[in-house]
Amino acid sequence: MVLSKHNPMTTFHIISLFPESFDSYLNVSIVKRALEKGLIDIKYYNPRDFTVPSRKGQPLTYADRRVDSRPYGGGPGMVIEALPIIKAIEKAVGRKLKAQSSKLKTLIAFFSPAGKQFSNEMAESFKKYSDIVLVCGRYEGIDARIKKVFPMVDISVGPYVLTGGELPAMIVIDSITRRIPGAIGDNLSIEEERIASSDVYTRPEAITYRKKTYKVPKILLTGHHAKIDEWKNKKKSLRNIK
Ligand code: SAM
Repeated sequence: MVLSKHNPMTTFHIISLFPESFDSYLNVSIVKRALEKGLIDIKYYNPRDFTVPSRKGQPLTYADRRVDSRPYGGGPGMVIEALPIIKAIEKAVGRKLKAQSSKLKTLIAFFSPAGKQFSNEMAESFKKYSDIVLVCGRYEGIDARIKKVFPMVDISVGPYVLTGGELPAMIVIDSITRRIPGAIGDNLSIEEERIASSDVYTRPEAITYRKKTYKVPKILLTGHHAKIDEWKNKKKSLRNIK
């Protein structure tokens, strides 16, 4: 398949109240190159752009663009209203979800600290989707009716609470992108195995810091690959025990 900006393998549709927070991370290194090569595409939808003026025919006011309200039943914090997010998802993939052929290739995910733990395996399985909608929560989360209209998977990036779903979205995009063929130079499985296998060293052979010298382990300088692998595996098992 020939890939171009018009035919990426995966399009990420980010639904966020703070789209500008993605600029620095997604515009460098591997993700940037994957964008330039047309392997992926990233589109942004701000729920505030799907609000309507409270007075018909009048321009939107600052208050109209607010999309958070107090939770029914009480409780702390604010909740993001349903309709601005429903309309944003509709704009992102509404047409695709209507076409049976692309429905199965579309995934909608919501970020939640109570969701399923994101993993390498999940990233690998998400590669099959041509369109991935990432709904970033803020405050106390999103109105539960959104999930009735658009079923979605809840994903957590770890057992801690963040301020919003933007960092989790960047983690998911990064982790899926590096698995797309052509995104990184080396074979990925070899790279991940390498990362898990040992401490790594580079030039110079010896460094001095505060009068103490730190040397590269001698075995790595021998060129004896079987012995080096043995040493690396030993390191790996020691690291796993810790
Ligand atoms: N009490 C809320 C809850 O349990 O969902 C906390 C919401 S948190 C302050 C605001 C948003 O950040 C969440 O709606 C979610 O989108 C995102 N978030 C926070 N921690 C996360 C995590 N560990 N994994 C994924 N998303 C997270």
